[in-house]
Amino acid sequence: MDVAGPKALSTTTAKKRVIIAGGGYAGMTIAVTLAHRMRPADDIEIVLVESRPYQQALSELDLVAAGTSRPQFAELWHADIFRGLPITCVYERLECVEPSTHCITVGPRGETGDVIPYWRLVVATGAIATTPPVPGLKEHAVTMWCVPDAHELQRRIEKQFKIAAMLPDRADREAALSFTVVGGGATGVEIIGTVASELPRMIRRAGLDPTEMKLRLVEGRSDILFDLPETQRLRARRRLAKMGVEVVLGEKLTRVEDGVAYVESGRAIPSPVLVWCGGAHADPDAVRWGMSFDNSGRLVCDSMLKSTDADDIYVIGDVAAFKDPKNGRVLPMLAQFAIREAEQAAVSILSEARGGQPEPFAPHMHGEFVSVGPHWGVGWMFKLNVSGWFAIFMKRLTYVMYWLQVGSFRLAARRTRQMLRLRR
Ligand SMILES: Cc1cc2nc3c(=O)[nH]c(=O)nc-3n(C[C@H](O)[C@H](O)[C@H](O)COP(=O)(O)OP(=O)(O)OC[C@H]3O[C@@H](n4cnc5c(N)ncnc54)[C@H](O)[C@@H]3O)c2cc1C
Repeated sequence: MDVAGPKALSTTTAKKRVIIAGGGYAGMTIAVTLAHRMRPADDIEIVLVESRPYQQALSELDLVAAGTSRPQFAELWHADIFRGLPITCVYERLECVEPSTHCITVGPRGETGDVIPYWRLVVATGAIATTPPVPGLKEHAVTMWCVPDAHELQRRIEKQFKIAAMLPDRADREAALSFTVVGGGATGVEIIGTVASELPRMIRRAGLDPTEMKLRLVEGRSDILFDLPETQRLRARRRLAKMGVEVVLGEKLTRVEDGVAYVESGRAIPSPVLVWCGGAHADPDAVRWGMSFDNSGRLVCDSMLKSTDADDIYVIGDVAAFKDPKNGRVLPMLAQFAIREAEQAAVSILSEARGGQPEPFAPHMHGEFVSVGPHWGVGWMFKLNVSGWFAIFMKRLTYVMYWLQVGSFRLAARRTRQMLRLRR
């Protein structure tokens, strides 16, 4: 692995330069897959453009969102992953794409940055958490889309412990120890599950009574986890109830004021700590890069995962709007699709480098697992519903498989040991 400044790459090169913009699940997977599979005769140069020297493994955030675990566990450092691989990292952000000249510009937003030419560009800049224009939401809520978000949630929880410890009245303490997650999709369920399992121990340690803690999951639709079969949703709701979480269904958030969340029915929910897990939006910068995008701002791609506007640009992961040929629906924003798309794009790029043609992407989903706390999960695999320890085992196994895929056996073994030691 090398680190280069953009100026060092500003001239055209005889090599086939593949620039990968974005080092998330999609970007890391394609970089490593290309590096492992390319041959000297392919004459490929791999350049990763990413502003951070590590990947934020977002799907691991449920492990570290609350409690004593270090949120940094969800960081996969390039120095670890790319050791010995022919990958050049440019720690800048992709600012602009110029398909007509086959160049990108990197640098701060809105500034004239450095130009880097490419033979193939892979846009894998992901998505961001979005907050709708609900009054007070942006100011009061923490989103859950990166390691700093997990730090912020931990900071706010700890602050509430200190406040509650000074209040003589039980009702006031209950209000101070009220934690609300809005959004009953997988992320919201995973975060409230982690909070529900971690907080009682932390509250006891702070000298407080865990029965004074109030946990709520608010969802505007009639149920949580709509992607899962009904029986699995019911199981998840039962589990949450057992963990002391009140699930508030069919109630949209209308405003947030002074630590209180108001919902459509007018109910006021004390929420000094409010986590918003209500939605994500494709990288908002991507719509400025001269490529077609759909109504949700995801870049439109063809069956080969190429932008419909440029034959030498691949778009993969959350930023891409790939339509499943089986049902015509755009694939959901999931790490498992980002990884599969990256593998396929790597195969196509190698084929093109060898004078062949790219191959179409055929998405398959073999399972989905959602954690409800650290020791229990719910989901399905190969058309079978699974729950309990087995589902959580399968979920953690997907992490290990990813570490093995982008890293090495040593890295996967080390991280597995660390994961098992994370305080639960
Ligand atoms: C809390 C949480 C839990 C989740 N759990 C699961 C799960 O259990 N299973 C599952 O399948 N999916 C899960 N997901 C979804 C999954 O994380 C995403 O689908 C996945 O991260 C998409 O990968 P990606 O590479 O497209 O984007 P990302 O992983 O978001 O990576 C995008 C990268 O692009 C970089 N970037 C952005 N803009 C630029 C720019 N202009 N220039 C350069 N770099 C840029 C970013 O810094 C980032 O590193 C979860 C998501 C969250 C938030």
